[in-house]
Amino acid sequence: MPAVEQDQIGNGEGGPPGARTACGPRAVEAGLLAELDAACSRVERDPARLARPLRVIVPSRALREQIGCLLVERGRARIGIRVQTLDGLAREVLERAGQCAAPSLLCGEVVRDLARREPALARDLDGLDDGYAAAHASVDDLLDAGFIELHLDPLLERAAEVAGGPALARASALLRVAAQVSRELAAQTLGHRSAELARASELLRADVDLLPTRALWIHGFADATGVQLDLLETLAQRFESRLWLDLPEVQRASAFGARLRERLTSVPAHSADPSPGARVAASRHPDPECEARAAAAWARARIDAGVAPEQIAIVARDLARHRLALRRQLGRFGVPFSGVAERGATTPAGRQLAALCELLERGAALPAERWLDARGRAAGDAPPADLRDALHVLGIASLSDLAAAPPGTWSDGVLLRARTGLAVDEQGAPRALRRRVRSAAISALHEAALASLRQLEGDPARAPVAAHAARLAELTGALGWRADTPGCAELSAALADLERAGESPLRRDDFLRVLRRALAEVATDPLGGRGGGVQVLSVMEARARSFAALRVIGLERGVFPRRVSEDPLLPDALRRALRDVLPDLPVKTEGHEEERFLFGQLVAAAPEVHLSCAQRDATGRATPPSPLIERVAIGFCDAPEPTPRSPRDALLEVAQSRARGEFASALPAALADARRALGLADRELGPLARARLAVLRELDPRDARRHELGPFLGAVGAPRSRVDPRSTAPFVTQLEDTARCPWRAFLSRILSVEPPPDARGALPGAADKRLLGNVVHGALALAAATETWPGSFPRELLLEAAREQTVKEGVALPGFAQVLARCAAPYVEVARRLDAADSPRIVGVEELGVARVRDAAGAERELRFKADRIDEIAGRMRRTDWKTGKPKTVQDHQRGLAQGERIQIHAYAQDGARARYVYLDPEHDDAKRVIDASAIDPGREKFDQSVATLFAARDAGAFPPRLRKPDRDEETVACRSCDLRPACLRGDSGARMRLAAWAEAQHDGSELERAALAVWRLPENGT
Ligand code: SF4
Repeated sequence: MPAVEQDQIGNGEGGPPGARTACGPRAVEAGLLAELDAACSRVERDPARLARPLRVIVPSRALREQIGCLLVERGRARIGIRVQTLDGLAREVLERAGQCAAPSLLCGEVVRDLARREPALARDLDGLDDGYAAAHASVDDLLDAGFIELHLDPLLERAAEVAGGPALARASALLRVAAQVSRELAAQTLGHRSAELARASELLRADVDLLPTRALWIHGFADATGVQLDLLETLAQRFESRLWLDLPEVQRASAFGARLRERLTSVPAHSADPSPGARVAASRHPDPECEARAAAAWARARIDAGVAPEQIAIVARDLARHRLALRRQLGRFGVPFSGVAERGATTPAGRQLAALCELLERGAALPAERWLDARGRAAGDAPPADLRDALHVLGIASLSDLAAAPPGTWSDGVLLRARTGLAVDEQGAPRALRRRVRSAAISALHEAALASLRQLEGDPARAPVAAHAARLAELTGALGWRADTPGCAELSAALADLERAGESPLRRDDFLRVLRRALAEVATDPLGGRGGGVQVLSVMEARARSFAALRVIGLERGVFPRRVSEDPLLPDALRRALRDVLPDLPVKTEGHEEERFLFGQLVAAAPEVHLSCAQRDATGRATPPSPLIERVAIGFCDAPEPTPRSPRDALLEVAQSRARGEFASALPAALADARRALGLADRELGPLARARLAVLRELDPRDARRHELGPFLGAVGAPRSRVDPRSTAPFVTQLEDTARCPWRAFLSRILSVEPPPDARGALPGAADKRLLGNVVHGALALAAATETWPGSFPRELLLEAAREQTVKEGVALPGFAQVLARCAAPYVEVARRLDAADSPRIVGVEELGVARVRDAAGAERELRFKADRIDEIAGRMRRTDWKTGKPKTVQDHQRGLAQGERIQIHAYAQDGARARYVYLDPEHDDAKRVIDASAIDPGREKFDQSVATLFAARDAGAFPPRLRKPDRDEETVACRSCDLRPACLRGDSGARMRLAAWAEAQHDGSELERAALAVWRLPENGT
């Protein structure tokens, strides 16, 4: 170590200046603290020494906090000691010199801008999504290594000696970019972390009194960038300094940290005693959630054994993968913890700001519902969920769709699918009540969408940050943001910071990137407390720290050690050559040694160390263990760790393996705990617990209920009130639906449940059978009213029918109605040809009618129907049902009639009229198109039987779901395309087994049971 000024050395503040080495963080820390103790005791004898502080310089905030705590814990007040990071020290030097750091917020964007102007970089990077991030990373490395403009020519020459072609062109371009950035740094029109450190070194070399220091310790550094090393070296030369290094034997020949050792340990170092060996154990867990749970239980056990929570650490190489699971599990075990530098989940402000950033990024293409998230809400606004549903009902998928939508579409408001209840109308018929969004609410959205787009379209492609910030403030005004909108205060603060960042003009996408960076911290909440409790740390934050107990999680291959990849623009071979000019330029593949060092340091950081990994990741993919676990040569202990149970675990254990009565006793207390955990006030929970237990008994019965139908399996009971839709005569199609799947018919035809609309969902094909059938039916109804039918058919009527359907379905795709009309035309042509052949007199279309039938008790009942067409032919009434689906034979119809699924035309024929199905498929044989009711069921017995069975099920409230076939455990075809399956037990093997057990059991013969069995067995008829 070069000479230090006489008045600053040799005062013996805790031993001779120079370097010390020890093996492991605990030994290093013990040595450091002993020296600090000695220095402090000298102050007690000579308080005048307090005029200049002792300084401990560390690489991270986490280590700074730990050293501060350890000093306090040692029992005496510690004054005159300043523990600070190297960056903090640099800032202090600049402030004392009356200088301030130039803002660095825009450095990355300046690099991107300069790189875009280099053809050798633009050619490869322009087409990639933020490809210039690679150029930014390379320039960062050059600047951190101490690159200044003077290095440019020698580096260009060296690069030309070892590289050629595109590789040389890229490297030269990068060096030119770095030179221009360093010119700006020198002029202080731009800031970068390296510039602050370099200026602090310069200032200290010129005037050491800028940093009043009695003595100085450098602690926790294993490696450093070039400019960091320059500053550390300056400190070591100019002050009475001691360097503490964690240097295990195996590390002495390693390339990792070699530069630091070379530059800072040139005076003989002395070694401290090695740390006593740690007890190391390892375990593996099924998945990351289980791993987090085991870590939380492990921490709980240590705290219960008397270890201070702050002396316990859970460390991961990539903490982001584990933070939320850890938060959940540590909370369940009542473990106090702090994430130190790691952030938690997105806050409401963060969600609003994220939606705003997406709007800036995607503009008119942003999904309309995401745009709703970016809007400010005013008192009296419709609930966001209703507005979202209303947009889907209107077929509005994107912001541009909303801006382009004609206001006439919602002039009567928008009726949502969400049902609020059942009522009776003026005629006494039951009807479903649905939520509605007022027309004014949609018009307000429309106006705001237009204003948003106008604002976005007026944004300049390139402008100073202040101009972008001002435009953004106007945009939030157009979105209705107010002072109390979540994220508004955070955005204002970030914009104020950005406006101080400099005058450099920025592209819109660069401004957005800067904005996202500025908002990153405020968008999430802290992970745990503010430093107290169990330390949840990343490996980098845990560097050089010691603990009483340490658990390293996430030790999977490819995670720890992290994957080290070469810089595509400045590969390692070239970096090695450039080191001749810029010796501190990092070589990426040396990162492997860093990983091994970090792991070795962790294993030595506590007397008790536990290593763990998960066998599968959160998606279920297998994750092999890290090779680092093999380095410590211990086997996995696959026996479950003795774990304390959280109150939740105890309840789950009762629920899974104890008697239902015990669970019933434990549930009210557990519900009360859950309310308290959510910050909700206490209240009487008996009724809620009883309701939950009743639902549990239905979903997972353990008693005789296993052989009975329950309400979720369709035993809903007879109507009890006038608003039950069963109080009016059913339509024949309702009975057909009941035969296909009674539960689905109950949901859709009685409860009026509908799946939510999705304007962004897959479009139905133009040949979609249901849609095509509706268009053909609509077109034929319109055709019957024309003078020219069946001689000819105006094509615009087809388009009118197609448009009506697309509006009803919420399909806003332009041109879709034309395609639909074109697909429907051949079907209509078949109907025209058939009508032209027998020239019927058309009496009506889509006409309602009532058939009189008898139920199982022989009572007369009404069965309503709607006939597609009523004609008079040869003096006799004829009703027609147009069919656009796959043609069926007479035998198919006979089977369908016996099973109750095809009874429609038999209801048409109940008053003696002729009734027929007409298949309009243009590919079908003309001779087989028309099937008459009399050909299917001449004696009408089958119709009577099916109708009686279906009426009985409807009356008794027996709607078993067709989760399986009556004779075997096989899913029915209907389930595969059922849009109501979220409201059904489909996929629940327990429910299928219960249905089978019920169908086989001997029943008491109640009306509901008999009706349910009869409807359940309908599919067996006619097979
Ligand atoms: S999923 Fe199957 S059983 Fe359930 S309602 Fe739909 S068709 Fe019926």
